[in-house]
Amino acid sequence: MHPSLPAPASNLSHWHRTTRSFPHLNANRFAEVPASTKYLVIGSGITGAATAWELINSGVAGEDVLILEAREAVSGATGQNAGHVRPDAFRGFPRFSAIHGPEQAKLILENEKLHLQSVKDFVETHNIKCDFNYTTTIEVCMTEEYASHLAKVLSQYRKAGGDVSHIKFYQGDEAKAKTKVPAAISAYEWPAASNHPGKLTQWVLSDVISKGGKLWTHCPATKISKHRGTDGARWDIQTPRGIIAAETIIHCTNAYAGYLLPEISGVVTPRRAQAHAYVPPASLSGESALKSTLSLRYGPTNFFSVNQLKDGTVIMGGQAVRSDAERTPEYLEGRVSFDDTTHNPQITKNSIEEFSRLSSSPSNGPARPGEGFSHVWTGIVGETPDAVPFVGPLPGLDGQWICAGYNGHGMARIFQCAPGLVKLITGSSWAATGLPACFQFSKERLDRISRLKAKV
Ligand SMILES: Cc1cc2nc3c(=O)[nH]c(=O)nc-3n(C[C@H](O)[C@H](O)[C@H](O)COP(=O)(O)OP(=O)(O)OC[C@H]3O[C@@H](n4cnc5c(N)ncnc54)[C@H](O)[C@@H]3O)c2cc1C
Repeated sequence: MHPSLPAPASNLSHWHRTTRSFPHLNANRFAEVPASTKYLVIGSGITGAATAWELINSGVAGEDVLILEAREAVSGATGQNAGHVRPDAFRGFPRFSAIHGPEQAKLILENEKLHLQSVKDFVETHNIKCDFNYTTTIEVCMTEEYASHLAKVLSQYRKAGGDVSHIKFYQGDEAKAKTKVPAAISAYEWPAASNHPGKLTQWVLSDVISKGGKLWTHCPATKISKHRGTDGARWDIQTPRGIIAAETIIHCTNAYAGYLLPEISGVVTPRRAQAHAYVPPASLSGESALKSTLSLRYGPTNFFSVNQLKDGTVIMGGQAVRSDAERTPEYLEGRVSFDDTTHNPQITKNSIEEFSRLSSSPSNGPARPGEGFSHVWTGIVGETPDAVPFVGPLPGLDGQWICAGYNGHGMARIFQCAPGLVKLITGSSWAATGLPACFQFSKERLDRISRLKAKV
């Protein structure tokens, strides 16, 4: 599929609809771009915002940092996700092991645990009002087959020396009672959080701007070429409102990275994900509101995430099917796409049915006007063939860096990846980032990916 710039008229998520008065939403919408900057960050999602923030808080002058955003601020996946900050506690171990070996697989999972603490510390230290809810998450096994698969995975992870001390296990009636899901076969619980990703990222952008950083919205970077001259700049970045000369470029464009970097087009690929918001009936309201987030899982990549916000709204991400027969062409329509202007009605139908099962109870009485399904939206996730992000310098492109490709799991990784990348940019070694070695961008990794793709 050809790489693409973000579609101009992307749909508004629940998070967008509840933050329309963000003062920097359309910052510098009609202004010509500055002629030069030392650091150019492309993308205003959580990766771009956190990278700019880390640069400034590592000693770079705010005035030397410029963020370019193709649409309004935080209009990509960060503003369109399901609000979960949910470390993978052990589920991904076999897949990561098969691709990167068991030691890297353990480091990937341990890094996600650290990440949860990093987000919590960041939000608490800066007293950020982003509806942060530090709680637990419960992985609910919805089929016997998946329950038995996951039991094996936990045992495999434990045998490999993985830390499982923070994971609680429930089975049968106990699992049903704990999760309030009548079909639960078994369940695993561990610490996680949910938040309003729009409010969190807007706070970070506001702080960057208050420290002198600049944000240009509705201003896509359309081409990068070598800068000619002796003024210290290395690259010229074209935009519809002028050319910027920059010393350093940081690509925080996630699914769209291949547009400016043909060398990774086809390596970071788009997947459209969909989420829905619901106003709960009595069974999930008041003191019956969910205390933990849930993942209702029918298979390793076949799930609905459930995240009840502090105001009671239930956000359901994921797009599960309950049997292979439901994997119809209509259901698969739009899955590999850059189009976040629309959604898939078949997935909405599945989601509404799942919400109805989750919330059905004799205590509900007749549905009240205003209850139930309230909104649907989509966003574009950046996938990589080896299931982990790209972090680091771009070989052969002196002064260009990347942090992208979180495989739909960025809110559980970026507060480790972005600070790690800034350490590299400011001269530290890879070891100082604390990131698993398999996240590092390199020519060798691209070659390994080509071999992996050839095998599939
Ligand atoms: C429906 C959905 C549900 C999800 N649920 C979860 C979840 O519950 N938990 C979780 O961990 N993750 C989830 N994710 C994934 C998560 O949202 C992403 O991993 C994360 O937001 C990526 O952040 P980012 O800043 O790298 O990318 P983005 O937020 O996509 O930011 C990239 C930005 O770059 C801009 N851009 C692109 N190209 C250019 C260009 N050439 N010039 C200028 N600007 C450009 C885009 O407009 C965009 O704003 C979900 C994603 C979706 C879509």
